[in-house]
Amino acid sequence: PVDRSPEIQEARLKLPILAEEQVIMEAINENPIVVICGETGSGKTTQVPQFLYEAGYTSSNGIIGITEPRRVAAVSMSQRVAKEMNLSHRVVSYQIRYEGNTTDETQIKFMTDGVLLKEVQKDFLLSKYKVIIIDEAHERSMYTDILIGLLSRIVPLREKKGLPLKLIIMSATLRVEDFTENTRLFAGTPPVLQVDARQFPVTVHFNKKTPLDDYSGECFRKVCKIHRMLPSGGILVFLTGQAEVHSLCRRLRKAFPFQKNSTAGDDDDERKESVEEMRKFKKSRRRKKATTLPRINLDNYAVVPVDEGDEDRDAETDDDIAGSDVDLDLGDGDSEEEEKSDSSLPLYVLPLYSLLAPEKQAKVFRPPPPGTRLCVVATNVAETSLTIPGIKYVVDCGKVKKRFYDKITGVSSFRVTWISQASANQRAGRAGRTEPGHCYRLYSSAVFMDFEKFSAPEITKRPVEDLILQMKALNIEKVINFPFPTPPPTEALAAAEELLIALGALKEPPMTGRLKEQQAAKLSCPISPLGRVMATFPVAPRYAKMLALSRQHDCLPYTITIVSAMTVRELFEEFDRPAASEEETVKLKGKKGRLVQMQRIWAGQGSLQKLGDLMVMLGAVGACEYSGCTPKFCEENGLRYKAMLEIRRLRGQLTTAVNSVCTDAGLYVDPKMKPPTEAQATYLRQIVLAGLGDHLARRVQAEELLDDKWKNAYKTALLDDPVFIHPSSVLFKQLPEFVVYQEIVETTKLYMKGVSAVEPE
Ligand code: ADP
Ligand code: MG
Repeated sequence: PVDRSPEIQEARLKLPILAEEQVIMEAINENPIVVICGETGSGKTTQVPQFLYEAGYTSSNGIIGITEPRRVAAVSMSQRVAKEMNLSHRVVSYQIRYEGNTTDETQIKFMTDGVLLKEVQKDFLLSKYKVIIIDEAHERSMYTDILIGLLSRIVPLREKKGLPLKLIIMSATLRVEDFTENTRLFAGTPPVLQVDARQFPVTVHFNKKTPLDDYSGECFRKVCKIHRMLPSGGILVFLTGQAEVHSLCRRLRKAFPFQKNSTAGDDDDERKESVEEMRKFKKSRRRKKATTLPRINLDNYAVVPVDEGDEDRDAETDDDIAGSDVDLDLGDGDSEEEEKSDSSLPLYVLPLYSLLAPEKQAKVFRPPPPGTRLCVVATNVAETSLTIPGIKYVVDCGKVKKRFYDKITGVSSFRVTWISQASANQRAGRAGRTEPGHCYRLYSSAVFMDFEKFSAPEITKRPVEDLILQMKALNIEKVINFPFPTPPPTEALAAAEELLIALGALKEPPMTGRLKEQQAAKLSCPISPLGRVMATFPVAPRYAKMLALSRQHDCLPYTITIVSAMTVRELFEEFDRPAASEEETVKLKGKKGRLVQMQRIWAGQGSLQKLGDLMVMLGAVGACEYSGCTPKFCEENGLRYKAMLEIRRLRGQLTTAVNSVCTDAGLYVDPKMKPPTEAQATYLRQIVLAGLGDHLARRVQAEELLDDKWKNAYKTALLDDPVFIHPSSVLFKQLPEFVVYQEIVETTKLYMKGVSAVEPE
């Protein structure tokens, strides 16, 4: 029996999935594997675990596990379900890579897909689970795909043992044939249940022209128009990255402040104080609104483009009310008017992206202060993972920022590309959850028609060495025979296997026989004892190798810290961003100067310096921990607080992992860790070289300098083009002869990041 509050009960009853409870539970009771498809917001994530709980699936010591591809979703969904069920976090809990609140009382556990994959390694049968729900399967994240492959084998094994496990695959789209029609995966086609979402009509408005690059500016103008002219209802804007999100937030807050000196309610107290002020605004606004309500057709539903006249229709709407007493901007949106601050129309602007602190993310679920309109400026996280209440207008720039990897070299670059049609429709759907909505696409319908239908599964797009090591540790030797929903390209498999052989994680095939046989053998190497140790560390194989080597000369605490810092990424705040005002430009410059100065200090002296950027990471973490790892210290020294917390957790986790392999190591996380000695720094560079051996680069010699493009450049084994030390590196000016790098990122040039000087044999 679940004791829900009346408000929760009322909200639940509105969810389309509640009407399907009986059908869903019957299907689950009668089938080992069930697929549930339902629009985002229909209630899959929050309700299905509750159905199972109420049906008694947790009554005999079994637990319900739900995987999410994103941490944000794992954390916030566990909180939401605990609240709906009126149960404590001890019972409805979450586990993500660096943290969790699970207990022995936990009965419903939300986790990232990576966490469950690690658990499969410890207990292949996942004995403690009664039910596994794979959520957001349509996102096709790499770990989700692998889990589905593994579970296709685990479910029959559990059946044989007489301890049946239920598998539920949930998807926001009906595109599930990679799972259901893949006979290597599931022998019999699992039933697919479709939840009819009560999706209200969403009118899609295409831009007539597609802006060439300034889609941010276009977003701004569109939000201004909506806010000035359309009835109440939240606005959700899709942009591509954190910097863009912040810059649009700033611009909008300036245009529609809801209180003096507002930082958009970053503080709840501030917010309360302004409530009174807002009430006044609201009153005056209501009166105005009565005369200015535009007439728009709320029943016009068109997710597929009908015509390109929507921009014009907007203009007509504008014309209709042009004669009213309110000053409306009717132009194409370029006028000065919009930049003018207008505090009579308060807009409550909130950012939303994955790296944002959880308590700030949680704000989007709360109602906006009275008298204000909510405007959430988000990255892709808002597409399917989170449902923000009260959204009526969606502004879609049509782009997404993605990391692209070269299949062979692993060189990555972030690129902003067009989204898929499926994504665009998901985004539009966010507007019709509670009432009819509108989606403004800042591109033409012709451009939309050129979008690819769906985006490719992640597993086909990135290096797979970490995945292959995990699979080998599960004794899946012939990776090529694994029932992938979509297999990775053969060259990616071969590159991964080659790297793992080079790292000593796999046993090399005997060099006999014909070439073809050899190559086939290469794709089915068994794991080595070293590989087994490496697979127990929750980091990439290159870093795991470094850990495995670091027992010598008491280097472990340093390697653990360096590896944690390299894994967490983005330790430092980004100050090279466009500023809203001159004042801010000066502020950012000052902060950047301070950070550069600190980095020089963290880089140390003598042979410590040769460790380069890795010494900077080590020094930064050391200094931060020494000071107690406070938000204040981070703020003052240009460190990202959230990253520092993650590093602390990962250090703890890696320390435990190392202690369990070397039981006599007796390691602990020392907040007052001393810097390494000169000798240790030299050992550390050798350890780093052992892990990043294939990431070696040599400075181009003077006599080789035929072309100017090779000035200050480095040569690597894999690339024909010159690579450079990134300007943010402490080794940027020193240009050592040999370096290893953490990664190469392509921007204007090929840049090495995370650079250390080494001396190869
Ligand atoms: P689905 O998984 O099908 O996309 P969810 O179960 O995530 O749907 O969401 C169902 C409903 O619950 C949504 O309409 C959303 O408004 C509401 N909801 C989810 N999380 C929260 C939250 N943290 N606060 C308030 N409402 C929420
Ligand atoms: Mg969901």
